[in-house]
Amino acid sequence: MLSLFTIMRRKPSRVGLKSDEVMLTFDDGPNLEDNVTPEVLDVLHQHSVKAGFCPVGKQIRRHPEVLQRMYHSGHLLINHTQNHFHPMRQKYVALLEEVESCDRTIGEALGIPDYRSDYFRAPYGIVTLAVRRVTRTLGMTPVLLTHYGYDTRVGPHNYTPVVDKMIANAKRRNGGMYVFHDGSLCPPLVPEHDWNRSVENRSWVPEAVDRVITELKAEGLKFVLPHQNAKVAQTVKNAA
Ligand SMILES: [Zn+2]
Repeated sequence: MLSLFTIMRRKPSRVGLKSDEVMLTFDDGPNLEDNVTPEVLDVLHQHSVKAGFCPVGKQIRRHPEVLQRMYHSGHLLINHTQNHFHPMRQKYVALLEEVESCDRTIGEALGIPDYRSDYFRAPYGIVTLAVRRVTRTLGMTPVLLTHYGYDTRVGPHNYTPVVDKMIANAKRRNGGMYVFHDGSLCPPLVPEHDWNRSVENRSWVPEAVDRVITELKAEGLKFVLPHQNAKVAQTVKNAA
């Protein structure tokens, strides 16, 4: 029998967040198409919010300066592999190389030899036995989610309900861990040739992030990172 898990946990306490705490994460960047990732960084800066970024090695190679900005702005870098292959198609040795290769790429971009990530998020949120073994071997803490809004399936023309649901979920559960995709590496279910309707067009993300932060701060929710709250890392470790 295949032992397969995802990174979803419904309750914020299951990912180590206290009541009223929100953590935002951004997957699959850096993405400079429509200047998406720099604009996300601008929005976070305007709100003095630190977030988790799950960049992919091959994208970091294209835009190392964006990774440097994330790091020096105090955001958390989360290893998301070098090439974003589907974990179901990767055995332990290949996956280990994918994760180590991503760390080497981060280290090169930052000019930090032997850089090691403390945190990992599996591509597609799929946790196979190989994923578990790799994170154990490298001593990495998996970064989970409490809500998944399928934001990779929407574009500029139809993203609003996804953001509405994320905000409603955070209000209902008094916080949680959420993901936006600033990059586009998940193949679309149906390719769209009109860029304004394409799910690969992520230009709506900065505005959506601005709305989420504005509305949730107005509710009294706080935006946190794991290392601002030791319990997060510990609980996440136990949940993995
Ligand atoms: Zn991803």
